[in-house]
Amino acid sequence: MRPLIVAANWKMNTTPADAAALAGIIAAASDHPDVIRVICPPFLSLAAVRDAVAGTGIEVGAQNVHQELAGAYTGETSAPMLAGLATWVILGHSERRRDAGETDALVNRKLARALDSGLRPIVCVGELLADRDAGRAEEVVTGQVRACLAGIDPDALAAAGLVVAYEPVWAIGTGRNARGADAAAMADAIRRVVAEMATPSLAESLPVLYGGSVTAANAAEFFGEPAVDGARVGGASLKRDEMAGIVASASLTAAARLAASAG
Ligand code: PEP
Repeated sequence: MRPLIVAANWKMNTTPADAAALAGIIAAASDHPDVIRVICPPFLSLAAVRDAVAGTGIEVGAQNVHQELAGAYTGETSAPMLAGLATWVILGHSERRRDAGETDALVNRKLARALDSGLRPIVCVGELLADRDAGRAEEVVTGQVRACLAGIDPDALAAAGLVVAYEPVWAIGTGRNARGADAAAMADAIRRVVAEMATPSLAESLPVLYGGSVTAANAAEFFGEPAVDGARVGGASLKRDEMAGIVASASLTAAARLAASAG
């Protein structure tokens, strides 16, 4: 049975002091041990969040990592620098693809680095509105998955607990979410590609999250889809009640899946 995961991306929000306070509040308000909760604050707030969530079960992630281990890369952060601060990493977020020119080839290198370094990767994929309107959403997303995972050992992906987040670009930060059924169809398509290029067992065990304007009010639509295993949450993850509601909704699904698998 795949786990339910709610991964918060705070983007470029919160000072270390704000982040520690918010993380503590969210930890207390979303205490559902059957859901994997991850908070990805800005790099500068990783230590503060790590300390604030110690003992709560919340895990900490970085929003990006450099593909090289060290060197003349001004302003960048390497995987070894994250040791002791983060155990997860978001790769290929659409805002980095848009603002920092990240390509699938670069995400592929970052993924290899994350695996070497023992970070659990969340690889983000998603189509533009023009792709969806042109009926090319699945082609674009499966192409991204192929390119991001190309040449990487399936055993290493399995050992690291690879997660894929389907995040249609037109739904991120816009208040316009996809439909649950569309997210589920894309999750199925992603698993078909992973089965083909890696192994059917990796595909079957692969958590696929939906991201794009998820809120406490709409989370159940996604979690009600058996192919969708949680959410990547941006804007709503900065609000205690939203996070509490989203995690509570995921917990209901986790309990229902457990009951279904038991009986
Ligand atoms: C995101 O940052 O990946 C995201 C899904 O943001 P939001 O929830 O704000 O749409």
